[in-house]
Amino acid sequence: MQIFKFGGASVENAEGIRNLCKIVESFGKDSLVIVVSAMGKTTNKLEELVKLAHTESDYEEPLQGLKAYHRKIISELLEEVPEHYPKLETKLENILGNLSQYDLMFAYDMVVPFGELMSTTIINACLNEKRNFCHWLDARSVIRTDQYFSEANVDWVVTEQQIWERLRPLTKEKIVITQGFIGSDVEGNSTTLGREGSDYTGAILAYCLNADGFTVWKDVPGILNADPRILEKTVQYAKLSYREATEIAYYGAQVIHPKTLKPIARKNIPLTVRSFLNRDLDGTVISSESTKKDIPCFIFKGNQLLVTAQVKDHSFMDEKKLGLILQVLDLLNIKINLMQNSALTFSFCIDNKKFKVKRIKELLSRDFILSFECSLNLATIKNYTPESFEKLPLNRSVIMEQKTVNNYQVLYQSDDLAEKG
Ligand code: ASP
Ligand code: MG
Repeated sequence: MQIFKFGGASVENAEGIRNLCKIVESFGKDSLVIVVSAMGKTTNKLEELVKLAHTESDYEEPLQGLKAYHRKIISELLEEVPEHYPKLETKLENILGNLSQYDLMFAYDMVVPFGELMSTTIINACLNEKRNFCHWLDARSVIRTDQYFSEANVDWVVTEQQIWERLRPLTKEKIVITQGFIGSDVEGNSTTLGREGSDYTGAILAYCLNADGFTVWKDVPGILNADPRILEKTVQYAKLSYREATEIAYYGAQVIHPKTLKPIARKNIPLTVRSFLNRDLDGTVISSESTKKDIPCFIFKGNQLLVTAQVKDHSFMDEKKLGLILQVLDLLNIKINLMQNSALTFSFCIDNKKFKVKRIKELLSRDFILSFECSLNLATIKNYTPESFEKLPLNRSVIMEQKTVNNYQVLYQSDDLAEKG
């Protein structure tokens, strides 16, 4: 059994989908489950629709744009519109029309899954056009989550049971296509696993099905030691241990979703990251094999926010106060990317998400004086060497710095990275 995951960039146009079909068709006789994301930047567009519809603003133009984008791809690929596709459009329109009555995050999870539902419906029709060899499965019927809408956590016991009962029998007959990123709660409401969560879905399926391998098909040849858009010279890893890959994902390398590695490492399933553009390349294999730590790895994160919490009464920033702040961050599901404390303050760097920052203010302003500094970048060098520091594009003020035996992190002012996304 193999699991393949195709991200948004691999299916952003008709040519990409034809390529996906070729990859799948050339696959051998083994069972195969393919997990697919929304096409291109569809999830961003759906997020925009949520914002507009939730505040009862006019969303007609972006909605028509989204529909036209998918319809154009359908017309380039298929003779007929797939049977279930028009129903998806109507359903999405109906949901948007009534969205303002729901809590924002609940509303988000009602709308955003349509990207994946549409892409898999179209790709399923393409795969079945020549020969009928693919089952379409609604991932929400197997991936059970809690009700932490927009960043839901998986209920592994129920999920494993449902995958075993509903998905596994299908793999014995045909290949199966399903959606990444989406699940459902105990009441049947749609949920999502957090942005870029399709890798994680692939890992969940690999774990529950005891897959022999999991392949993530990407527009890069494998895992590189830096983002080639930021540093000129990069090196590709042929192999990485689960541990090294987990650390790289933790520090924010976008190549793999951070939650992906734990389930596959637990079952020792190798994960291959390889290019859908050039199938002759081997890519990077992540497995339990240990790897040398001789290549420094550069990880850049844009759009960072530094929050400083200062005590109000000149008492120390003691463990009790730190505990209070960390509890709030845990409650809001916020990950700290860098932190530092002093006698009277605690500063932490996080991804700048408006909605969460608003909640931080609501929950911490009573006990602390809060200040914020935005438009920051965070650079991490894992396994640094003396020469590696020179490569950092530090042309603006450094705000915070930290160094351990293996890793160096620096937070600095700049707007370059935010633009590059
Ligand atoms: N479509 C979702 C996103 O863009 C999930 C994914 O691509 O992995 O975040
Ligand atoms: Mg994606």
